[in-house]
Amino acid sequence: MDLNRRVYRLSPSQFSAETIAVTFAKTSRSPEPFDVIAAELNDEKSAEFSEKWIVGYGHSSVAEHAVLHLALENVSRLAIETIEANRLASYTEKSTRYQEWDPKAYVTPPEIVGSPYEGEYQALMDKLFAIYAEALQALRPWGEANTPRRENESEKAWSNRARVKSVDVARFLLPAAAMANVGLTINARALEYAIKKMLSSELEEVRLIGAEMKTVASQELPTLVKYADPIAFLPKLREKARDFANQIDTISGAPWCDLKAVDESAEDKVLAAVLYRFGDDSYQVCLDQVLNMSQDDKQDLVDAMFAAMTDFDVPIRELEYADLTFSLIMDQGAYFEFKRHRMMTQTVQDLTTRLGYALPKAVTEAGFEARYREAMQAAAVLYEKLAAWNPQVASYVVPNAYNRRVLCRANVRELFHFIKLRCAKNAHFSIQRVGRGMLEQMRPYFPLLSRKIQVKGDTSVQDLTAEYFSETAIIPEI
Ligand SMILES: Cc1cc2nc3c(=O)[nH]c(=O)nc-3n(C[C@H](O)[C@H](O)[C@H](O)COP(=O)(O)OP(=O)(O)OC[C@H]3O[C@@H](n4cnc5c(N)ncnc54)[C@H](O)[C@@H]3O)c2cc1C
Repeated sequence: MDLNRRVYRLSPSQFSAETIAVTFAKTSRSPEPFDVIAAELNDEKSAEFSEKWIVGYGHSSVAEHAVLHLALENVSRLAIETIEANRLASYTEKSTRYQEWDPKAYVTPPEIVGSPYEGEYQALMDKLFAIYAEALQALRPWGEANTPRRENESEKAWSNRARVKSVDVARFLLPAAAMANVGLTINARALEYAIKKMLSSELEEVRLIGAEMKTVASQELPTLVKYADPIAFLPKLREKARDFANQIDTISGAPWCDLKAVDESAEDKVLAAVLYRFGDDSYQVCLDQVLNMSQDDKQDLVDAMFAAMTDFDVPIRELEYADLTFSLIMDQGAYFEFKRHRMMTQTVQDLTTRLGYALPKAVTEAGFEARYREAMQAAAVLYEKLAAWNPQVASYVVPNAYNRRVLCRANVRELFHFIKLRCAKNAHFSIQRVGRGMLEQMRPYFPLLSRKIQVKGDTSVQDLTAEYFSETAIIPEI
C-alpha cells in the first residue's frame, strides 16, 4: 500500500459527474486509492452503485460530489426566481444594470398563449418595452449631465459610466416577463431538490424548464436526478395556507424596513461565543463574563475581532450567533439582487402591483415622468385583470418598479457581508437603500459591532431616498 501523501484531481473530462461521486462514495469501504477505484468504474457500475447506496439507503450526501454546469437561456426573470431559489448553488445572470433589452425579449407564458388575454398581454409587453427603449434615450442626457468626468478618464470610459447610469434607471420599466440568461453550477443533491421545486411550480414555464433540466442532467447523472418528481404535499399546503391568509382583514401600515425580531443581548452573545472559542469554559460562564465586562473591555474585544482586517478577509464565524428578522418592502429590481444572498432565509410574496411603484428622481429630472406613469398604470390595469383569473401568471406583467414584500432572517456575519457589498457606491441605489435601512435598524442592538461594518460615507436612508426617488410607493388608481 502506498503511504505517500497524494493530492490530485479527478477530471470531469475523464469521468462523468456521477462516476466521480461514486468514486468518492466507495472510499468509505474500499482501501484502494481514488484513481484506482475510478478506473474500475463505468457508467453502468456507477448507476448500479448510486441506485443501491445513494437512492436506496439514503446516503444522499454522496451526490454532492457530482457537480453540473447548466446554461439556461431566454427564460423569464419570473422563472429565474425559482431557478435561483437554492442556497447551495452558484449563479451568474444577464445584468439589467449593464445590458439593454431587445424589444421582443420577453416570454409569453404558456397559460397566456391561446387564452382570451393573449392580445392584451402582447400589447402591454410591446408597450412596456417601447417605453423602456424611449427611457434609455431620454435618460442618456441626464446620465451624461450627472456623471462628472474623472481625471484622465477616456471618452469611452466616461460615456460607458454615463450609459450605465441611465440603464440603471430604465430597468425599473422591465417586466418580470423579460428574458434572461443564467449560468447555474450545482451539485446533484441540490439539483434534485431544485428540479422537484420547479416541477411543483404553479407556473407552466417553470415546470417545463424543470423537466428540461431533468432531461439534460440525466445525460450526466442517470441515477441521481431520476426520482426528482413534484413535491406532493405542496398543493394542499398552498390551498390551506391561502385559506387562512385570505381570512386576514386588515390594511397593513407596516414600515418598509421593519426589524421584527432580535435578541436584546445579541451582541453580548456574539462576544461570549468569541471567548468560548478561544477559552475553555462553558458557554454560560463566557456569557456571564461578557455581561460583567466594562464597555471599554467589550470595545477592546470587538476592536481585536476586526483589527488588521482587509477588504479580502472574512469576519469570524462567531458573528453567526446573533440572528435578525426583517420584514421588508423593496422594488422588484432591488429584490432581484436581494434574493441572491443565499445565506439568508428569505420568504417572498407573489409579485403584484398592489404595493405601489417607485419613481426614480432621474425619471422626473429627465422629463420622462408622464410616460413612466403611463407604463406603470397600464401594467397595473392588466395585472388586476389577469390576477382575477390566475394571480401567479399575472406577475409576468409587473415591472421592476413595483414593490415586493420580503421576510428575511439573517445572522450578523451575513449582514456584514450584505451591507458592505450593497451599500457600496457602485451598488444600485435601490438596494443601497435597503442595506442602509437594515443597518440603521440593527445599530441600537449592536452598538459596537455595527460600527465595524465597512460602509463608505455616512448617508442616511432619508438622504438616499431624497437623492434618488421622487416617490417610493405610488399606488395606481384602477
Ligand atoms: C458589483 C457587483 C456586480 C454584480 N454583477 C452581477 C451580474 O452581472 N450578474 C449576476 O448574476 N450577479 C451579479 N452580482 C451578484 C453577485 O454575483 C452575487 O451573487 C451577489 O452579490 C451575492 O453575493 P455573495 O454570493 O457574495 O453572497 P451570499 O450568497 O450572501 O453569500 C455570503 C457569503 O457566503 C459565501 N458563499 C456563499 N455561497 C458560496 C458558494 N457556493 N461557494 C463559496 N462561498 C459561498 C461567500 O463568502 C459569500 O460572500 C454582482 C454583485 C456585485 C457586488
